[in-house]
Amino acid sequence: MHPIIEQEKRFGAPNYHPLPVVLARGEGVWLWDTDGKKYLDMMSAYSAVSQGHHHPRIVKALKDQADRLCVPSRAFHSERLAPLLEKLCKITGLDTALPMNTGAEAVETAIKAARRWGYTVKHIPKDKAEIIVGLNNFHGRTTAIISFSSEPLYREGFGPFVPGFVAVPFGDAKAVEKAITPNTAAVLMEPIQGEAGIIVPPEGYLKELQAICKKHNVLLILDEVQSGLGRTGKMFAFQHEIGVSGKDGPDGVILGKALGGGLLPVSAFVGKKELMDCFTPGSHGSTFGGNPLAAAVALEALAVLEDEHLVERSAEMGAYLLKKLRGLNSPLIREVRGRGLWAGVDIDPKKARARIVCEKLMARGVLSKETHETVVRLAPPLIINREEIDFAVAQLAAVLAEL
Ligand SMILES: *Cc1c(COP(=O)(O)O)cnc(C)c1O
Repeated sequence: MHPIIEQEKRFGAPNYHPLPVVLARGEGVWLWDTDGKKYLDMMSAYSAVSQGHHHPRIVKALKDQADRLCVPSRAFHSERLAPLLEKLCKITGLDTALPMNTGAEAVETAIKAARRWGYTVKHIPKDKAEIIVGLNNFHGRTTAIISFSSEPLYREGFGPFVPGFVAVPFGDAKAVEKAITPNTAAVLMEPIQGEAGIIVPPEGYLKELQAICKKHNVLLILDEVQSGLGRTGKMFAFQHEIGVSGKDGPDGVILGKALGGGLLPVSAFVGKKELMDCFTPGSHGSTFGGNPLAAAVALEALAVLEDEHLVERSAEMGAYLLKKLRGLNSPLIREVRGRGLWAGVDIDPKKARARIVCEKLMARGVLSKETHETVVRLAPPLIINREEIDFAVAQLAAVLAEL
């Protein structure tokens, strides 16, 4: 066994089960292990590296800012945060942004905002606010968030759980409407469920959700941590169905992952003013949230998305990837799902395990990771080109032929 893997196993908590590769360097869509072997990254850190590894512009922004000011805390104003907040409002069509670090923290922020709005604006009786979520959701790992997970693996042994959440089948707008009560503050959904296996809801789902939420005075909050910032071929996955503007869009959007440009954890909750104004000084915060180093990196990460037309690229290359995957015609594949550069190849568990497929892909120089036992997730950096996609799909075809 590689000595680094041995060391990690000895001193690290076993809460991950990584593929047996030790990475040392990354550049664009490529990664190198400690022996210098090269791999195509078809994972991009669950979408955190959409701009590609070690993007020269984002690395430069990080270095320049690191030489000036990094973490003054929000006890004071600092130069880079305000421009980032304005940019986040512009791209989401919303009014106000609140910066955090990890995706889970931004989800927690959204939950708090929704609850406060429920009490102060909607006048829900004290401690009765409910939030409707989708079955098989993934929104992170905090104790509040796993309280509304339906995945036993994420929950077992971690109770007691936080009340106030109601789960309904994903993709069924009528089920959401049925679950609404006078105490419902918000509907919280992923526009496409990522960890559940790249589950794309039926067409019209978000549009219907939006109409239902409006009708019942319930907030629509979308978790775009993984699906956002170009992953699905639009800036936000919800834009396949609903608009970007206060009137036509969601009431709140949660961002993370690619917002950090593959360098740092940067997240944010962005929402309508009446929702965000529920926060008062001291009611919520984060020591590192919105620090100038993170803000400089996030601003450059967003500028790179625009300047390199990565959203359009994701649409074009994603269509190419999905077409090639659907053309594989392997008896081991049950289904290919996806949108943009975000594909799930569902492997028939009677024929092979997704984990084995990923291990064999690794041996052939392609890195990916299974999700939910049966799905091979393919979500490369958005800068990937046709030849690189051809290479990845050829390796997958070869692996499936071997099994
Ligand atoms: C990854 C993810 C999160 C959590 O983000 P962390 O940075 O890991 O806390 C939340 N929501 C969705 C949809 C995600 O994919």
